Amino acid sequence: MTVSDIVKTHCTGCCACMNMCPKNAIQMVTDEEGFYVPQVNAEICVNCGKCYSGCPGNDDHHVDESLTGYLVRLKDSVHLKNSASGGAFVGIASHMIKEYNALVVGAAITEDLSVKHIIIESTEQLIKLQNSKYVQSYVGNVYQQVRKALEDGRTVLFSGTPCQIAGLYAVVPLKKRERLYTVDLVCHGVPSPALLRRQIEMDSKSKQGRVVDYRFRYKNPNAESNSSYMMMMMMMRGLPLVRRTAQDVYFNLFMQGLDFRESCYNCKYANLKRIGDFTVGDCDSREFYPYFHPSESNSILLINSKKAAHLWDDFSVLFDFTELDVHREAEYNHQLNHPFKRSEQRDGIYEELLNEEWSVIKNKYAIPQSKIDRYKLLALLNTPAWVRKILSKIRRRLKG
Ligand SMILES: Cc1cc2nc3c(=O)[nH]c(=O)nc-3n(C[C@H](O)[C@H](O)[C@H](O)COP(=O)(O)OP(=O)(O)OC[C@H]3O[C@@H](n4cnc5c(N)ncnc54)[C@H](O)[C@@H]3O)c2cc1C
Repeated sequence: MTVSDIVKTHCTGCCACMNMCPKNAIQMVTDEEGFYVPQVNAEICVNCGKCYSGCPGNDDHHVDESLTGYLVRLKDSVHLKNSASGGAFVGIASHMIKEYNALVVGAAITEDLSVKHIIIESTEQLIKLQNSKYVQSYVGNVYQQVRKALEDGRTVLFSGTPCQIAGLYAVVPLKKRERLYTVDLVCHGVPSPALLRRQIEMDSKSKQGRVVDYRFRYKNPNAESNSSYMMMMMMMRGLPLVRRTAQDVYFNLFMQGLDFRESCYNCKYANLKRIGDFTVGDCDSREFYPYFHPSESNSILLINSKKAAHLWDDFSVLFDFTELDVHREAEYNHQLNHPFKRSEQRDGIYEELLNEEWSVIKNKYAIPQSKIDRYKLLALLNTPAWVRKILSKIRRRLKG
């Protein structure tokens, strides 16, 4: 048996098999939907079976049922602004770099605008890993690099989706994990990189030249740290293209869960048996904590192992925090409870998304956006806090 025998609904594209193969007989290619899948070169393969038996798709390892959880907000307002929510990840990562000289691994947007896992070693580089990239990140041979660094005595903090943490554990045996710390994300599911590429290509036909960068979540630099879910394409010239989720094909499909990798609908990590030492996510039970930075995006931080609890004692001073009722959060934050439910609309959707005229796709999967709305959004995203307060007072008076 080789990894080719793993069924499509179980292969997460984590790249563990490629990293494990003693003969380098496996490379990752993309399937017809643009998702990463392993391809075994039969001429090199010696049928040792390592890729099959070691595949996390066959395995069921987890750390512990989450010990404790907190609602957290990083005190450092500069780092906080670049984070998707309350800066849980960057708080842990900066502590690990400063105190342990650790290597930090996570997902970054690369020069070709794809998303890949990279390794960084300074706090200045952390910005590359911050903020959510709502697409499958390509791990490549990073697990091997992590294994080597651990063998060389380095401390490593690895962050990613739970299936990527499982991939890492498949490559790094337990006895070598003493200096390895992991952060998993509460994860909705991942769309195909090919769809994001298509949307970027379409937006690159704009009069403002090509897309040079993009973001899914944005915090107004002049107001509180509340992050807006927006598709923001930074262009070669002029103002960014900015669309609300429903106005954007890619984001709309992501939010509705219509375009995830097939394995995401069977995700075995979508529960409270977390695989990472830490779990970070958004807080969906925020209404129960009205006293905790109510107008800001806060993170949940779950402490899943004794190793993590020990570290938390040291770095908790970096955060404002309050204890989280983890089980109640799981009632609201569904990916802590069960995988996203697959809709029948998912059948064959990629054939349409990758081949149909873009104008047809836009009409079907996004609501139109007027030019005025685009400028209004841009203005709102940059309006200073004090102007916002006055505007909302005026609005309330007009209403009442
Ligand atoms: C695909 C995806 C789906 C998510 N779905 C949910 C959800 O349903 N519910 C929920 O509560 N939270 C979800 N999150 C997590 C959420 O978006 C925030 O990352 C979380 O609130 C932590 O925010 P932060 O401020 O600590 O860190 P951030 O600034 O968001 O930190 C970034 C961290 O996310 C990692 N990361 C970013 N993009 C990717 C990627 N594509 N693949 C792997 N790792 C990545 C980086 O490596 C880094 O560790 C999801 C994140 C992703 C990437």
